[in-house]
Amino acid sequence: MSARTAYRGTLVDFTDDPRVSAGALRVIDDGLLVVNDGKVESAGPAAAALAALPPGTPVVDHGGSLIMPGFIDAHVHYPQTDVIASHGKQLLDWLTDYTFPTESSFGDAAHAATVAEFFLDELERNGTTTAAIYATIHPESVDAIFAAAQKRNMRVIAGKVMMDVNAPDSLRDEAEQSYADSKMLIERWHGKDRLLYGITPRFAATSTERQLELAGKLMDEHAGMHMQTHLAENHAEVKWIAELFPWSKSYLGVYEKFGLVRPGSLYGHSIHLSADDWRTLGENGAAVIHCPTSNLFLGSGLFDLDAANASGTLAGLATDVGGGTSFSMLRTMHEAYKVAQLARRPFTSLDGFYLATLGGARSLGLADKLGNFEAGKEADFIVLDPKATPLIERRYGIAQDMTQKLFVLMMLGDDRLVARTYILGEPARLSA
Ligand SMILES: [Zn+2]
Repeated sequence: MSARTAYRGTLVDFTDDPRVSAGALRVIDDGLLVVNDGKVESAGPAAAALAALPPGTPVVDHGGSLIMPGFIDAHVHYPQTDVIASHGKQLLDWLTDYTFPTESSFGDAAHAATVAEFFLDELERNGTTTAAIYATIHPESVDAIFAAAQKRNMRVIAGKVMMDVNAPDSLRDEAEQSYADSKMLIERWHGKDRLLYGITPRFAATSTERQLELAGKLMDEHAGMHMQTHLAENHAEVKWIAELFPWSKSYLGVYEKFGLVRPGSLYGHSIHLSADDWRTLGENGAAVIHCPTSNLFLGSGLFDLDAANASGTLAGLATDVGGGTSFSMLRTMHEAYKVAQLARRPFTSLDGFYLATLGGARSLGLADKLGNFEAGKEADFIVLDPKATPLIERRYGIAQDMTQKLFVLMMLGDDRLVARTYILGEPARLSA
C-alpha cells in the first residue's frame, strides 16, 4: 500500500466533550479520511478532498458505513480472558475463586503469549485499537502482551501487577522485587514503538505500604508514566481497606499518601467515593475509569459520571474483562446507559461514543495522539457497518439524525458491527 491512502465513508468524530461543547460531534456524510504514513493528513467532505488528492492515491470506499476513531478500552485484564462469564460472585470472592487461579499460570511464557494473541485479536475484532492493560505479577506476562502488541503496531499501556500481600503464595511478589521488575520492564518496553508502561499495583488491599511507596517512587523516577489500579469498587472492599489502613481518611487517601494521585493515575471503577474524594481526584489531574458491564455483573454499584464532570475529573470507559462481560465497547456503552438509568442520571449516545474515543484518549493523557481525526494524529480507526444485522439496518434507517443513529448502534451493536479495524492506516492483521 502506498504511503498515502484515502478512505471514503461517513466520518464521525468528536472535537470536544459533547457535554461541554454543543457542536462537539462532527459528522461528514460523504467524507474522506486521508492517511499518510500512518497519520491523519486530513478529514473533510469527499468532493473537495478527492479533487485535491495527488493523482494515483488509492481510495478505499466504505460506502454507507461510518468511519470513526478506534475505540479505547481504558481498563482491562488480559490474563482474565479465560474467566470471562464465570458465574456468580461479588468482587472479593471473584478474585479468590476465578482471578487468582487463572493468573497463576502466566509465569509460563508460552501460555501468556497464546492468551495475549487471542486477547488482542478480540480487541481488534471489536474495534478497540488502544487499551490500558493489566498483566499479572509475572514479568513474562508483560513481555507477552507487549511483544504481541508491538507486532501489531498497537498503542497500548500495560504493566506488571504489583501484589505482595493478601494473595495466594503463587501470586505474591515482594515489594523490592516488584520495584526492580517494574523498572526492568519499563526500560525494556516503555516508549518502544507505540508501547507505554503503566505502573500497576492491583489495589491497596494487595500491596503493603512499602510496595505502594515504591510504586510512587517509580512514578517520581519516570516522568509521564501511567499508574493503573482499582478504587472503591465494592462495599466489602471499601470496608476492608478501612480495616487495613485505619490511619487513612478514605480509600483514596491511601493512594494519596503514597503519591499515586496525579496526572497519569487511572482509577478503575471509582464508585463509592465522597465529595472530598472527587475534589482530590479532580484537583490532582487523575482519571477515573467507568467499567459498567463489570459493575453490573459483580453487583458493585452505579458509577457517577456527573460527579466526575462536576469535579473536573477525567473519565474513561472500559470493559474490565474478565469481571466485565464483553470485549465490545459498544456493549460497554450500552451498559453505561443502563447504569445511568438506574441512578436516574442522563447518558446519551454522544456520551457513550465520546468516552470510547476522544474522552478515553483524554483520560489516558493521549489526546495529542489519539481520539479523533485531527490532522497529525495516529490513524487508528474503524468502519462500522449499519447493515450488520437486519434489525440494526431497519432501526438505523428509521433514526432521524446521527445522535439517534449512534444510539441505535450503541444499544443494538456489538462486534458484528465492526467491519474493519485499521491500525496506523493498515487493516488489522488478526493472528487467526
Ligand atoms: Zn479491573
